[in-house]
Order: sequence, then C-alpha cells, then structure tokens
Amino acid sequence: SKAPIAIIGTGIAGLSAAGTLHNAEQAVHLFDKSRGSGGRMASKRSDAGSLDLGAQYFTARDRRFGETVRQWQTEGWVDQWSPNMYQCRDGQLTPSADEQLRWVGTPTMSSITRGLLGELPVTFSCRITEVFRGEQYWTLVDATGASHGPFSHVVVAVPAPQAAALLASAPKLAAVAASVAMEPTWAVALGFAAPLYTALEGCFVQDDALDWIARNRSKPGRDGALDTWVLHGTSSWSRQHLDLPKEAVIERLHGAFAELIDCVVPAPEFTLAHRWLYARPAQAHEWNALADASLGLYACGDWCLSGRVEGAWLSGQEAARRLLENL
Ligand code: FAD
Ligand code: NAD
Repeated sequence: SKAPIAIIGTGIAGLSAAGTLHNAEQAVHLFDKSRGSGGRMASKRSDAGSLDLGAQYFTARDRRFGETVRQWQTEGWVDQWSPNMYQCRDGQLTPSADEQLRWVGTPTMSSITRGLLGELPVTFSCRITEVFRGEQYWTLVDATGASHGPFSHVVVAVPAPQAAALLASAPKLAAVAASVAMEPTWAVALGFAAPLYTALEGCFVQDDALDWIARNRSKPGRDGALDTWVLHGTSSWSRQHLDLPKEAVIERLHGAFAELIDCVVPAPEFTLAHRWLYARPAQAHEWNALADASLGLYACGDWCLSGRVEGAWLSGQEAARRLLENL
C-alpha cells in the first residue's frame, strides 16, 4: 500500500485539507503539538466553563465556505451568534447593530475541528521540528528526536513563522513563509458571579489597549455559572506588552474594560490571560497556498489569505486541490 500524506497542524487549515484528501481516498496522518485540535480556533476548558480565547466568531463571504458552514450547521457543530453589538470610539460607547451573519462552534469553538477530525489518524502532543525528503519518501522528526514516516507528501498547516523552518527542503517556499510578519494578541477572560448590568454582548473598540470585547456566555450553548467575558488587546498594545506578567495584563485590560463599559464592574471571580504570539498576519496575502509540486511539499494557513477562519479554510482547500492535481 501507498505511504500516507502527512499534515502538520490540526487547525482549520490542516483539517480543511485533510477532509478533502480523505474524501479523495488518500490516506492522511495528522500531527499537532497541542493536546487537541483547533489551534487558534480552539476553546479552552476552564473553571468558568468553556472560553473562546482565540477566534471569536467567523463570517462566510465565499460561496463554497458558506455552503460548508451550512453543512456544519446540519451536523450540529455551529450556530449563529447574533450579539448585541456596540462600538467604542474615543471612549464613546454606542450601539452598532448590523446585518452580518456571524458563526460560532457549538457547544464550543472546538466542536468544528473535532467534528472534522472524526476518526482520522492523528498524533497529538507531537511538535514537528524537521521535515526531510529521502530518495522517495518524506520523514518527519519531532522535538524528542523520534522519526515519523514514510510519507508520500507533506502539508504544512502552521503559522508562517513556524512553517518557515518546516519548509527548509523548498527554500523558495521557506523564504515566502519567513517574509510574513505575524502580530501577537493578549487575550483575557473574566468571570463574574452576578451578570453585569449591560446589554452589550460584542464590541469593536479602537482604543490604545482594547481591540474587542465579547460576552462569552452570550454565545449559543455555552455553559458555566459565571457571566464570562473575553477581552482582546490590540496588536500594538499586545506587542508593546508582550512580556508583561499575566497578572498585570489582566489588571490593565480589566481596567480598560471597566472604564469603557456602561455599568459597574465588580472584582471578577475568575481571571485568565493567554498570549497568542502569532495571532494574525500583519497584512493579508493572495497566495491561496504554497506548493512545490515536484517535491510534494505544500503549505497552507490563514497567512496565505485573509488571516481569518474563512481564509484558513480556503487555503487548506487549495493545498489539497493542488496536491490531488499532481498525483
Ligand atoms: P492555527 O489555528 O494556528 O493551526 C495551526 C496548528 O498547528 C495549531 O493547532 C498548532 O498547535 C499546530 N502547530 C504549530 N506548529 C507545529 C509544529 N511544529 N508541530 C506540530 N504542530 C504544530 N478569525 C476570524 O475569522 N474571526 C475572529 O473573530 C478571529 N479572532 C481571532 C482572535 C485571536 C485572539 C486570534 C489568535 C485569532 C483570531 N482569528 C479570527 C483568526 C483565526 O483564529 C485564524 O485565522 C485561524 O484559526 C487559523 O487557522 P490555521 O489552521 O491557519 O492555523
Ligand atoms: P466582521 O465583518 O464582523 O468584522 C470586520 C471588521 O468590521 C471589524 O473588525 C470592525 O472593525 C468592523 N465592523 C463589523 N461590524 C461592525 C459593527 N457592527 N460596528 C462597528 N464596526 C464593525 O468579521 P470578519 O470580517 O470576519 O473579521 C473577523 C474579526 O476577527 C475582525 O474583527 C478581526 O479584527 C478579528 N480578528 C482578530 C484577530 C486577532 O488576532 N485578534 C485575528 C484575526 C481576526
């Protein structure tokens, strides 16, 4: 039998590619350094229930992605989230309702990638550090020095700075990945014993510190006793405070939140901070995916397109399409 295709990364890009390859009857094997799937669209289990610390929701503007999201809805993996939307400019908080359809995983963000992964073979807690090609096949080496293989092709589906090292066999692809700057985001979750006295459920902010506020508990299917909120720092604030201790990040963003919102904010019962080093590409690209078809090496991810869930999914589709075209 043939050697399978290795896919590094079980975020939405890697799983988008995996599904298409699997449907085309290609054997795949996935790897992820984390203990579960989802990457930046995973949810975190906590004492305050499940929290969306990364992707908050997603929109579907591409027709194919829109149809796929409808299928996910039929599977029960996603639902619409229609937050009471606000915006904040120069400290002025105003309602900002719109007609945009916004989707979230249910009951947690991870439901989508967990559903897509299904029974596909995967190795978690396995950080790949090296990808090299022998005469005919590919071998992967992980951080413990263990080898995995042989594989017929490799799809690298990780953020650009991490992809660059794994693409070393194809210096041109590695150089493209290395050219992508990715910006960090500090995320803070707060949980309050009594619901905050506000109608606000989502808020676009353009302040010094805060970029976005969400009432996590207002998303469909979220459990937990506390009124949970997620705050995101702007790229520039997060970059400037990259090494601030978590306690200080919580204090600063909690303070900015309390100042901005139209109600009393008591001391939270629960707090948590998470630093995303490679949260978003500094700018959008139009590469779709990267490929060295003669080698059998492919790269995909949000950084190849729009830096959004939709872009990551489309990039995974494109990597799989190009691989199949070259079989
Ligand atoms: P990732 O999700 O990063 O997946 C890569 C996977 O590869 C990860 O699981 C990682 O563990 C694994 N990995 C990395 N290196 C290795 C290695 N060496 N070996 C093995 N495994 C490895 N998008 C939206 O559309 N709407 C939003 O509201 C939104 N908000 C966001 C807020 C934040 C704070 C962040 C961080 C992102 C947000 N995004 C949002 C962006 C969205 O989350 C991403 O575009 C999308 O999830 C990226 O998917 P991906 O598969 O390309 O990469
Ligand atoms: P979207 O259409 O809801 O939002 C796009 C942008 O339009 C918003 O950032 C906001 O500036 C503006 N906007 C939309 N609705 C608004 C309203 N009612 N009032 C005021 N402004 C409004 O969603 P999208 O295009 O899918 O974008 C995804 C979101 O994810 C963006 O907000 C983006 O900033 C965010 N994101 C964050 C990160 C991160 O690392 N923090 C990474 C990727 C994406």
